[in-house]
This record gives sequence, C-alpha cells and structure tokens, in this order.
Amino acid sequence: MTARIIDGKALAQQVRARIADDVAHLRAEHDVTPGLCAVLVGEDPASKVYVGMKHKATEAAGMLSRQIVLPDDTSQEDLERTVTDLNADEEIDGILVQLPLPDHLDARRVQELITPAKDVDALNPYTAGRLAIGDPTFLSCTPYGVLEILEHAGVEVAGSNVVIVGRSNLVGRPLSVMLTLKGRDATVTLAHSRTRDLGAVCRGADVIVAAAGQIGLITADMVSPGTTVIDVGTNRGEDGKLVGDVDFDGVVEVAEAITPVPGGVGPMTVTMLLQNTLEAARARRGLPRR
Ligand code: NAD
Repeated sequence: MTARIIDGKALAQQVRARIADDVAHLRAEHDVTPGLCAVLVGEDPASKVYVGMKHKATEAAGMLSRQIVLPDDTSQEDLERTVTDLNADEEIDGILVQLPLPDHLDARRVQELITPAKDVDALNPYTAGRLAIGDPTFLSCTPYGVLEILEHAGVEVAGSNVVIVGRSNLVGRPLSVMLTLKGRDATVTLAHSRTRDLGAVCRGADVIVAAAGQIGLITADMVSPGTTVIDVGTNRGEDGKLVGDVDFDGVVEVAEAITPVPGGVGPMTVTMLLQNTLEAARARRGLPRR
C-alpha cells in the first residue's frame, strides 16, 4: 500500500494564518507588534535565501521584520556589539543570527550572548539546558516543526518507538529531548554515524525521523509497514534539486505516512520561528498565551 503523504506546506499555511490572526489581536488589544531581527554576516548565497524567506514570512504574519547585514570581515567584537544592542532594543522580541558564520567568528559565544527572552532560534545553551531539565522556554524551530507535523498527522508518539537519525544540536538532540518529556512520552533511540546496523534499529521504529544530511540514507528495507517517516534532510542532488535523507520512491511503498522534500519539514521550520517570536512578544510583556 502507498503511504499517506503529509503536506507540510499546507500545514504551514494553516499555522501561519493562525499566527497572523494572533498578531492582529495582539496589536488591536495591546498595541504590540512582535519584532524579529535577523543578523546575517557575509554573502553566503544559501544564508541569504533563508534570511529572505524568513523576512517575507515575518512580514506576511504582520510582524516587524528587520535585517542587519554585516560584511564578511566583521570582527567578533562588532558582531557581539550588534547582538548586545538588539538585546536592549524594545522593538525587537526575537533575535536570529544566521548560521554558518564566517570561520573567524565564534558562533557559540554569539549564541550565548543572545538574551534568553529573545532566543527564538533556541540555540543559546541556557535555552537548551532549560529543555534538558524538562522546563523549556523556546523550542528550536525544526524539531518544533516535526512535533507539529506528527500531531497534525494524528501520529500517537506516547509509548511509541521513535528512531531519530542524527544527533546534532540543531535537530536530532533537541528533538530527542522534546519527545521524551512528560506528556509526549515517546521511547526514543538517537542514532548517529557510529550506530551499528541502522537498518535493524529503524525496523523496530513506529516513527523514523531522518536528520543526517545523507541522500538516500533511509531505504525501503529499513522501514516496517505501519511506520511514519519524517524527512528533515535538505540536500542538493547532483541535478541541483532539493532531496531528503529518505529514498522517497522506495519508502513510500512501505510506510504508513511520509513527508516529502521539499514541502515537508522545511516550511514548518520558518513557521515555528514566527510562533516563537509571537510567544517572545507576549512573554516579554507578561501577556498570557492566547
Ligand atoms: P549535522 O551535520 O550537524 O548532523 C548530522 C548528524 O547525522 C550527525 O549527528 C551524524 O552523526 C549523523 N549522521 C551522518 N551520517 C550518518 C549515517 N550515515 N548514519 C547515521 N547517522 C549519520 O546536520 P544537521 O544540521 O543536523 O542537519 C541534518 C540535515 O537536516 C541536513 O540535510 C540539513 O540540511 C537538514 N536540515 C533541515 C532543516 C529544515 O528546516 N528542513 C533544518 C535544519 C537542518
């Protein structure tokens, strides 16, 4: 049987419409417009595209979107001053420093400087620590998007075996923590490049989340019938087209449900950045969630 295709683009549109509605309400009731500032250093073409996408989505949601573009040879001191100024900027609720930074800059130090109340990308170690002790502030956007997709698709994670392939601080590791929090209650296996017999590990899964950055890593023989497969991978194929980590054509014949690339997790990542910015704007003013 062919798997159900989970449409991340349609879900993203739905969630973004709800966020725009919440923003309009916040402005009407409290005279508050949530503001997001992206900081981009250098000319990396992919980073420019990502920042441009985030800018468009932020404006479309009715939020203030600011961009600061710094030259390639920006010093650590200047970048840190930019972040410190944004920490104190009343108009700005969320700060995003687009990665990767040029090699001479220390990304970790910059992330640590972002004040936790505005850490909408959730990469500050404080934010990660709060998640690790089960008392999260912001959830990092890609794993947050995966949670929303699973919920929307009606996939019950409580008590299920979830195999996450990839243990990065950006995707796999925070997702493993989110899924094991009380209330979500999944049993998680966090697989990585040193995992022995990945196929056997995956065959025991009710849900597989592929986040390794390896084209075609997850093949049909690694997937048991009934499994939901979420493909986070965003890779450029030889023809320049976007492809995931999952051999879609093979796995779609076996799985219960599957996200495509593009049109799966990607649109939800930007959406959850908007959600975090909205939450930051409310929390900074002591307003409850709507
Ligand atoms: P990363 O390189 O930081 O981490 C990759 C992880 O995969 C590592 O933990 C590594 O151990 C594991 N891995 C690599 N090869 C493996 C193999 N053969 N078997 C098992 N595990 C293996 O990457 P990342 O930043 O976490 O990104 C992962 C993928 O997700 C990339 O394709 C990236 O472009 C994509 N991504 C997509 C979004 C989105 O919004 N859709 C957001 C972030 C990352």
